[in-house]
Parts: sequence; structure tokens; C-alpha cells
Amino acid sequence: MPENLNITNKKILVIGAGLSGSEAAWYLANHGVQVILAETKTIKRNPAQTMDHFAELVCTNSLKANNIDSAHGILKSEMKAFGSIIVEAAEKHAVPAGMALAVNREDFSSEVTSMLKAHPLIEIIEVDVSNPIELQEKHGAEYTIIASGPLTTDPLQKWITENISGDDFYFYDAIAPVVDADSLNFSKLYYKDRHTPVSEEEGVEADYLNAPLDKEEYLTFVKELQDAEKVPPQGFENYKFFESCLPVDTMAERGIDTPRFSCMKPIGLELPDGTRPYAAVQLRRENLLGSAFNLVGFQTKLTYGEQKRVFRMIPGLEDAEFIHLGSIHRNSFLNTKKLCNQDFSSISFPSLYFAGQISGVEGYTESASMGIYVAIQLLRKMKGEELLRFPVETGMGALVNYIFTAPKPSPSNINFGLLPSVVLTKEERRNRVLRKKIKKKKAADRAVKIFDEFRSTLGE
Ligand SMILES: Cc1cc2nc3c(=O)[nH]c(=O)nc-3n(C[C@H](O)[C@H](O)[C@H](O)COP(=O)(O)OP(=O)(O)OC[C@H]3O[C@@H](n4cnc5c(N)ncnc54)[C@H](O)[C@@H]3O)c2cc1C
Repeated sequence: MPENLNITNKKILVIGAGLSGSEAAWYLANHGVQVILAETKTIKRNPAQTMDHFAELVCTNSLKANNIDSAHGILKSEMKAFGSIIVEAAEKHAVPAGMALAVNREDFSSEVTSMLKAHPLIEIIEVDVSNPIELQEKHGAEYTIIASGPLTTDPLQKWITENISGDDFYFYDAIAPVVDADSLNFSKLYYKDRHTPVSEEEGVEADYLNAPLDKEEYLTFVKELQDAEKVPPQGFENYKFFESCLPVDTMAERGIDTPRFSCMKPIGLELPDGTRPYAAVQLRRENLLGSAFNLVGFQTKLTYGEQKRVFRMIPGLEDAEFIHLGSIHRNSFLNTKKLCNQDFSSISFPSLYFAGQISGVEGYTESASMGIYVAIQLLRKMKGEELLRFPVETGMGALVNYIFTAPKPSPSNINFGLLPSVVLTKEERRNRVLRKKIKKKKAADRAVKIFDEFRSTLGE
């Protein structure tokens, strides 16, 4: 048992013993806080769950790359520095997977469950929480962390929608692909915002980069979209899309001209010579630094392989490197930027915090890391300390920064596109073969250095 137990007799309720809830409960209990951990799966599993253990990996058994010069590796090393239960159990039950940290999923989840159950400051309760405030009061808890994940049960979804979020709670995630700016052929692209004249001022660029298509290119492209292989919905996903957020392939299937009247609309996107292209794909900066661009309105059900093949047919994207690919799946997540403070506490219910996928990240490791982030902030709050700002150059800092700066809520994996760009020398920029590797290595070295400096100031 850690030495610093019982620094506070305050109680915290954690809802959900998944990846993020397990981390939050573990961190808080290890810092002397009494935790009530509420989990529903032993009463009723959701359709993705197959076991009673906590921290279930519902799909792949991989926590992704583990090498320190990868974005996932950086994140895991930061989590480890904060005493992550997920990384500890994963390392103990790792199976050979090259550079990735993959686990025996049964043993991994069983280990996390045993560790949590054995902790003297953690009490487990089996309940499908429908009203977090009521449960918080019932257990005499001062704060609650809602870590109920992408498949939050209906009663809790209903409570959140009615009391906190209204329409700012989402049930599907429609992700558009993101490409590395360095992999684009800018000679085929042009900057222009729709209906806005191009600025004459030097150095002032429009927000959107556009890829023009002539008629033949457009027809070929849409035909490929129609015919490409799609990911079928899971049993519980029964796709029902909002008309304003249709996948680009669904639009293509509705008719050859449909994309040209929606996300590939050329109106207001005249080329520098004043003519209007037959159709255009818009790319929007994914971060302020312009190191990554997303394909606007290109949320898609295409399989990953097909996305790379078909989207590289867009002029200027022939050699595109995809930082992440598009997808559509069932996912409960909040518009955290609008509804929460930087510590992920609710603005309207200050005793409620959100952690994990529901707060707007995507993926096992990302969700788990946000459980630690919220626990750190909550512990500070209980001690009367201020919000701790994580440097944006670190993995955890980059995820938080993304949630609070993305133009619209769209859960993201950790990737180098979320970290500020690094400066390359002229020579490094010219090295087309190794440029990407050098860039990642520099960003990774910077992340490690800045995280170490940051952590040394915390006295952890
Ligand atoms: C079908 C599917 C496949 C996925 N595949 C992958 C993948 O391959 N790789 C990857 O990195 N990520 C994947 N993800 C995303 C992954 O689920 C999340 O990244 C991660 O598990 C989220 O962690 P979390 O802690 O936010 O939620 P979870 O790990 O889902 O934990 C939430 C917990 O809360 C419990 N709960 C829900 N509602 C209530 C309630 N009202 N009261 C009490 N308890 C409640 C749940 O039973 C669950 O145990 C997938 C998600 C889904 C839905």
C-alpha cells in the first residue's frame, strides 16, 4: 500500500470500470482517496462485451506501438510515469507483437480486476447508473467521474442529455481521414475559402486547401467510391445517419452527382484563373500549424485499404500519407469543449467530471490516459491546487489540447498530427525518403524531454 494514503477522507464515485475508469480509480486510491467504482457489466453486458472482468479490450488485443519514437509509445511512457494500472497489467501479460504492446486479453483484464478489487480504498458496486448525482449523494461522494465509454448505457445517456448536454451529446462518430501536409502535391492544390476573394496580402492564406477535379476525374472517382469495399455495421450499430453528416460513399451510392452537390461542391471555389472546377475536395487544417489536413465531409465506411486506394485518386493526394483514416461507428461522446472546463469537469454540474472516450478521445490507450489526466486534476482540486496545464508537446497534453481546440467535436487517436510541428533543416526537408521518420523522431525526442521537465516540477 502506498505511504501517502488517507491524505483526504473525501470520497469519489467513478462510473465505469473500463480503461479510463480503472485508471482514474487506481490513481486516486493510490493517492489516498476513497473510491466507489460503479460498473454495470456484471448485471448486463453491452453487445461488445464478452467477459465480466474490468478494462475489457472489446476488439483488438493491441494497445498499439510501444516504441518511444511513436505517438502511442510516447503516451504509454507518460502513463507509466504516473503509475498506470493499464500499462502495468499490459506489460505483465504481453504477447509477442513486434513493436506493439499486445496482451492476452483475458489475463490482462483479470489482472486489472484483481488489482482494483484488492485495493483497500476501492469499493466496487454493481449498478447500471441512471442518475450520477443521486448515486454520488447516496454514497457520500464529493465528486463523480463519468467514465462510461463509447457504449454508455441508455439510462445514463438519457440523464446526460436531459441535464447536461442537450444536442451536444453524440451517438455516432463520423471520422474523416487526415493527411500529412508534407505528403501533398501543392502544385495541384490551391488555397481558397468558399465565396471569399483570395487575399492580395502577402503571407495571408485562406483556411481551406482545395483539390479541383475535372469531369472525367470526378466521374471515375465517384464510380470508385460506389464500388469500393465498405465495412459492414456491427450487429448493434444499425447505421442511421443524420442527413447533414452522411458518409461520402453513401452520398455516392445515392447518385453520381450527389457528392458534387454536397461535400464536393465547386461553387465559390474558383481556380486562380477564375474558372470553376467541375468538382472540388476541400482540405481543412487539422491544427493551427497546418502540418495536417482533414478531407472535409469525407467521413466514410470504406475499408482502410480502399480509402488509401480511392482517396489517392484525388489530384494532389497521389502520394498522400494518412495520419489517420476515416470511419463511422457507434460512439457516445460529448462536446467537451463547450460543456466542460479544462479539467473535464462539467460547467453546469461542477462535481461531475468526464473521462475516457466519452470526453472526446478514441482508442484504448488514449481513453486510459485521459482517466489519469482527470484523476490528477481532481486530486489537485481536492487539495485546493490549480489546474495543471500539460505541455502541448507531450502526448497527454496534445490530446487535451486537441479536444479543446478542434473546430468540431471529433474523437481522435493520438498521432503526431496533434503535436506542434518540429522545424526541419533544409537538408532534412529535401530528404524525401527519410523526412517523415526524421520529423517523428524529433517530435518524439521533444515530447520525452518536455514531459520529463514537466513531471520533475510535480514532485510525483
Ligand atoms: C465495438 C468497439 C470496438 C472498438 N475497438 C477498438 C480497438 O480495436 N482499439 C482501440 O484502441 N479502441 C477500440 N474501441 C474504442 C474503445 O472502446 C475505447 O477506446 C475504450 O475502451 C474506451 O475506454 P473507456 O474507459 O472510455 O470506456 P470503456 O472501456 O468502454 O469502459 C466503460 C465502462 O463503463 C461501463 N458502463 C457504461 N455505462 C454504465 C453505467 N450507466 N453505469 C455503470 N457502468 C457503465 C461499461 O460496462 C464499461 O465497462 C472500440 C470501441 C467499440 C465500441
